[in-house]
Amino acid sequence: MRIGLHTSTSKSLEDAALEAHRLGANTFQIFSASPRMWRASKPDTAAIALLRKARERLDVSPLVIHTNYLVNLASLDPDIRAKSVVSFRGELDRAKALSADYLVLHPGNFKGQTLEQGLAAFALGLAECATGFSAPALTVLLENTVGSGHQIGRRFEELRMIRDLAARETDLNIAYCLDTCHLFAAGFNIADPAGLAETVTAADRILGLDQVKVIHANDSKGALGSHLDRHENIGKGHIGETGFARILTHPKLREKPFILETPVESDEDAIRDIEALKRLSLARP
Ligand SMILES: [Zn+2]
Ligand SMILES: [Zn+2]
Repeated sequence: MRIGLHTSTSKSLEDAALEAHRLGANTFQIFSASPRMWRASKPDTAAIALLRKARERLDVSPLVIHTNYLVNLASLDPDIRAKSVVSFRGELDRAKALSADYLVLHPGNFKGQTLEQGLAAFALGLAECATGFSAPALTVLLENTVGSGHQIGRRFEELRMIRDLAARETDLNIAYCLDTCHLFAAGFNIADPAGLAETVTAADRILGLDQVKVIHANDSKGALGSHLDRHENIGKGHIGETGFARILTHPKLREKPFILETPVESDEDAIRDIEALKRLSLARP
């Protein structure tokens, strides 16, 4: 199994991989630049080489990069849109430079438009970012959201529509990342056996489970359908340990990389969540 967590690159790129390994993980997610700033610098070649060596030596894979939070490729505001295109192109370039496997992206916000217009704007934005870009080993993952306000991505159909529209405009590899907290808060009752079965069936029918490349394993502070994006440590939220045991052992999900984005104040918190995923993945619910 591949179980991992989001680690910090504040010391170095290499350290993010070392930290994942030290905490008991064999896959990880990072930001390739500050997640709350438009400006980003290019990682240097020596740092990238050290990251690659550490990953090979310790077998930490896949490497997932999460896009910064400011990017909204669906925005109607010309300034935000222009900045988003430049910023996400930087994300693509850095992901390729770092030999990342996946680049996770939230599908943005359709405020001021119809949902359909927002989906189209987002898909066109993606294609614009990828003009002249080629990285066959990299796949952009559209992440499902809790669907608060005008957020795109609470329904599988929206993610699928973006992928279909984008495929007409770009050769970029596009697939999906599902976040368990976002699913639950969006109204998919994955804490319940029947709800999980329905969700997996729907995801398979609409997205194709082979196209779900990564699962963000987060418990949910918010109730079912609350549209609250508040991650909780494994077992402490509304999905609970039994819910995670069923998710982790589901025959159609168990091969996926599970990556934590839970609140962590110390190494102990991180280790506890990684241990919980490992323990529950061996459970027989
Ligand atoms: Zn997530
Ligand atoms: Zn979230």
